[in-house]
Amino acid sequence: MNKLHDVTIGSLEELLNLIRKKAFLLLEYYKMYNQPFNIIDSVDNEMLHACMYNTMCTGSGGSGWDTLDKGESKGSDRCQSRKCLDCKAKVMFFLDVCPECNSGNLKDIADSRWGISSTSHLKYQGQLKSYRLTLVEPEENNFSCKKFRLRVWSIDADNEHLMAYAEGQNKQKSKGINFMPLSESFYMSKPCLHLDAILPIRGKVKINYFDPENNVPVDLPKKYSRTTEEVMQAKTWGKDRGNVTRRK
Ligand SMILES: [Zn+2]
Repeated sequence: MNKLHDVTIGSLEELLNLIRKKAFLLLEYYKMYNQPFNIIDSVDNEMLHACMYNTMCTGSGGSGWDTLDKGESKGSDRCQSRKCLDCKAKVMFFLDVCPECNSGNLKDIADSRWGISSTSHLKYQGQLKSYRLTLVEPEENNFSCKKFRLRVWSIDADNEHLMAYAEGQNKQKSKGINFMPLSESFYMSKPCLHLDAILPIRGKVKINYFDPENNVPVDLPKKYSRTTEEVMQAKTWGKDRGNVTRRK
């Protein structure tokens, strides 16, 4: 039981190449139908983490742990649809004009976050091992971008800053932390980089860094000097995101 496959840098590379191929296989159809595009969906993201950490997924998709080693997988993909400033339509990342009104007046959107449940975070404290956070970003933020940077960090589930964030969030009506990649709270939660790779539309994936055991956190950028208490006091707890309304 629990006989795990041996993970080597080779099989990680192969998996990333297949994920890349799968993502771009239907790209022309995604463009044709103006369908939002993700390079790595949540199912493949969990599998990527299982491969990186030499464990298994749990076969359940949604309930229980994401991986047998009690990791929690989250993904944020920045190949986000743009907003047409003329007709307000959403325009998928790889289109240069709005398919509804033909306008090229498109606004970049880069706000996708990792959703962390404050209730689960507090409930499984002491059991949950770590959050594995994937971020996919276009190298250039425009429709003709051909290379995408993939990074995975790990944050300890018992990190003090994250704990304060979960405790604060849990007092709000919404129990969902909208954890922003590369934000002050992200850096203050001591993320350790475990994977840094480039995924091109064509050609092979390039792994620039892979160390699933790295426990040295990313340096806190100098512009962030507040204490956890100060950061928590300043948070708006999601109230600044506005109401989501359906476009007529
Ligand atoms: Zn439009």
